[in-house]
Amino acid sequence: MDLTFTPEQQRLRAEAATWLAANMPDPPLASMDTADGFKAHRAWERQLHDAGWAVVAWPEEYGGRGLDLIEWLVFEEEYWRSGAPGRVGQNGLFLLGPTLMEHGTEEQRARFLPPMARADEIWCQGWSEPQAGSDLASLRSTARRDGEEWVLSGQKIWVSRGAFAEWMFGLFRSEPGSERHRGLSFILVPLDADGVDVRPIAQLDGETGFAEVFLDDVRVPADLCTVGHPGDGWRIAMSTAGFERGVSLRSPGRFLAPAERLVARWVESAGPGRPSARDEVLDAWMDAEAYRLYQYRTVSHVLEGGAVGFEASLNKLFWSQMDLHLHETALRLLGADAALAGDEAPDGGAWLDGFLFALAGPIYAGTNQIQRNIVAERVLDLPRSR
Ligand SMILES: Cc1cc2nc3c(=O)[nH]c(=O)nc-3n(C[C@H](O)[C@H](O)[C@H](O)COP(=O)(O)OP(=O)(O)OC[C@H]3O[C@@H](n4cnc5c(N)ncnc54)[C@H](O)[C@@H]3O)c2cc1C
Repeated sequence: MDLTFTPEQQRLRAEAATWLAANMPDPPLASMDTADGFKAHRAWERQLHDAGWAVVAWPEEYGGRGLDLIEWLVFEEEYWRSGAPGRVGQNGLFLLGPTLMEHGTEEQRARFLPPMARADEIWCQGWSEPQAGSDLASLRSTARRDGEEWVLSGQKIWVSRGAFAEWMFGLFRSEPGSERHRGLSFILVPLDADGVDVRPIAQLDGETGFAEVFLDDVRVPADLCTVGHPGDGWRIAMSTAGFERGVSLRSPGRFLAPAERLVARWVESAGPGRPSARDEVLDAWMDAEAYRLYQYRTVSHVLEGGAVGFEASLNKLFWSQMDLHLHETALRLLGADAALAGDEAPDGGAWLDGFLFALAGPIYAGTNQIQRNIVAERVLDLPRSR
């Protein structure tokens, strides 16, 4: 792996930084977990799309720039360094999008990817159910085939951005009597269809970050809405989970930017009477930099034809713990100021918000306990614990 950036990559970095500096929303957008904030984030996504920055590594025909993954990492570093808003379309752009590129039909790619890139249709993920979180294979929602349609019934929970999104991708038991990972189908669901009832759930900060989605005989066209073959949904979902745990959802730029801001805060605040926290700040920055280098290596490996596989679970463990440590360090450094909100708060309250969200990192995308099981059994080949 060559860590020297080519002149083209450096030009891309400069172009992205210039565009972002000129177009940064001012004042910052309201939370995407509110109706107004969601609208404002959708408008930002469209602005990114129209300028060619929405999905730089997608083919041009679907709204991308046709760049490679190294160039995507470069763009991501500049994106997060500039302080640009979180990506409200991320479940589509970084999870379903790559899944459709790998497993979808040409018709599905042409129908779903361009409006996803333009944020005309925002997607959410409907996997978890009240009795099926870590043990996803025990899900109970069903898909019954009726001619050219699926008839969907059941309940999904913890659907991020479900309160405002247009479409949901989900897993359904489509073969009656099948068990566990067999007989599941990966199905796309329009949330405005008859029989869909979306009920918002407030998260820790009171905003509607989640929804429960109830499905009561919801009809969707089977050909258009099944990703992969009926009954093969588990394999497709595991490929999506690989994107979620691996590099695509959590690019290193996302952690490097706050790590650099933390170092700047420490430089500003260090002095007599202030907590030092020097070693912790250094550790947090080194972790972010190590993650960055590891991802450049992973992406180089993928570009040379390699695959990621179960190492995605190691990745997930690393970024979720790194994010938590980074924000705990920031809160310790800020002391009582960390509890301030609004204009009085350091960095507009971003550290406290970031900490609250980091608490969820060890849970979503598969809990860290489950990731440790996967690493033990599939990466290290240790015997199963039970
Ligand atoms: C911020 C956030 C966003 C989310 N977004 C979505 C979304 O968009 N779509 C969606 O479908 N879901 C989403 N989820 C749900 C998430 O995927 C689940 O919460 C997660 O899979 C855990 O499932 P559970 O909550 O049912 O916990 P459980 O499965 O009940 O687990 C409870 C605890 O027991 C542990 N545990 C369970 N089994 C084992 C085992 N075999 N070995 C060791 N420990 C075990 C778990 O690790 C966990 O600590 C989100 C969750 C959060 C927090």
